[in-house]
Amino acid sequence: MLSRRKLIKRLSSVPILGGLVGGLPLSLEAEAKPAPKRDLFKEFGIRTFINAAGTLTYMTGSLMHDEVLDAINYGAKEFCLLDEIQDKVGAKIAQMVHSEAAVVTSGAFSGMTLGLAGILTGMDQKKVEMLPHLTGTGMKTEVICQKAHDIVYNHALTNTGCKIVVVETAADVEKAINENTALMHFLHIEADKGKIMHEEWVALGKKHNIPTSIDIAADVPPVENLWKFNDMGFHFVVISGGKAMRGPQSAGLLMGKKDIIAAARLHMPPRGFNIGRGMKINKEEIFGMYVALERFINEDHDKVWKMWEENTAYVENTVKAVNGVTTSVHVPPLGNHTPTLRIAWDSAKLRITGKDLQEALRKGDPSIEVGGSGPSNIGVTVWMLKPGQEKIVARRIKEELTKAAV
Ligand SMILES: *Cc1c(COP(=O)(O)O)cnc(C)c1O
Repeated sequence: MLSRRKLIKRLSSVPILGGLVGGLPLSLEAEAKPAPKRDLFKEFGIRTFINAAGTLTYMTGSLMHDEVLDAINYGAKEFCLLDEIQDKVGAKIAQMVHSEAAVVTSGAFSGMTLGLAGILTGMDQKKVEMLPHLTGTGMKTEVICQKAHDIVYNHALTNTGCKIVVVETAADVEKAINENTALMHFLHIEADKGKIMHEEWVALGKKHNIPTSIDIAADVPPVENLWKFNDMGFHFVVISGGKAMRGPQSAGLLMGKKDIIAAARLHMPPRGFNIGRGMKINKEEIFGMYVALERFINEDHDKVWKMWEENTAYVENTVKAVNGVTTSVHVPPLGNHTPTLRIAWDSAKLRITGKDLQEALRKGDPSIEVGGSGPSNIGVTVWMLKPGQEKIVARRIKEELTKAAV
């Protein structure tokens, strides 16, 4: 039998006759075409939108680059051992982020649970199986964190069975530390709201021989944050993969000391007698996360920043033309670090609330989501826009504001 390629080659060399299209018989021609892509959003009637809001979990985070999607598709076509891919990709990631070890997790949240679980149990399989029941096991039970850092995501820590002990000052920390203290946890995005900064936190942990951890989930750029806190001496660091790094939304990284990561792995699939069995990450996501990380590290960050500034300025200058509108640009210093435009208006001149404008943009064609609204203002970020969408966003906001003029 002729191979397909040979057949095509042969057929394309015969003179074009009736029944042949471009040298191929009709039936083969049809076969050679890729199957039509399904529009699943349309099939389900799911609204898609231009994202001028930001990397928000409920808006599905960020969009993956083609290189990441290629890695996912590539990974989907072979079997491998889940542990082997985690070992090898993790070792490479650790080098890239200056940590002793690393593992791809199903998000920053699970990284926190797994990192703490590893600290509690070490490599003791019996203890692994006991979590989240700590009483009477000899395992430690408390995590110290600053009051300003005690946010909803700390539930990831209490999932292990530990409780949170809240402190404010360094003296409070010294008082709170006891034989049950497992960890001292820090939240980078609220660093300025606490009384103790990173270095002091790490030093306090070192002084009392308590491991320290940090949640930097939404805190790149700057890219240096990927290694800054590993260099600083935190025992583990967690970050989301599906925010600014544009990896799979379901992925994240747990980076840290070798013994902690090794123990955290006991709480992860493929093993099942543990609290982390539901925090599965597949080989496709592991490759996708790796390629997203690599791409993010190698990106020309100055160029990207300049593009964000230009696109923000474009929206700003367009909407400012409406009488009564004022604008300002602010860069959140710690997390979601990107130019963030606030568009505000004089409610005596423009009769529309922030919520109404948000809703009008949402209901428009194309649908647009913008950031948090106030009584007479909305927020806009451009970092999740596709090229050219800044023009649509600017035009639509201007249209709606113009319509609202008294
Ligand atoms: C987004 C976020 C998380 C959760 O991260 P996932 O990657 O979605 O698990 C945790 N902490 C903070 C501060 C976050 O912003």
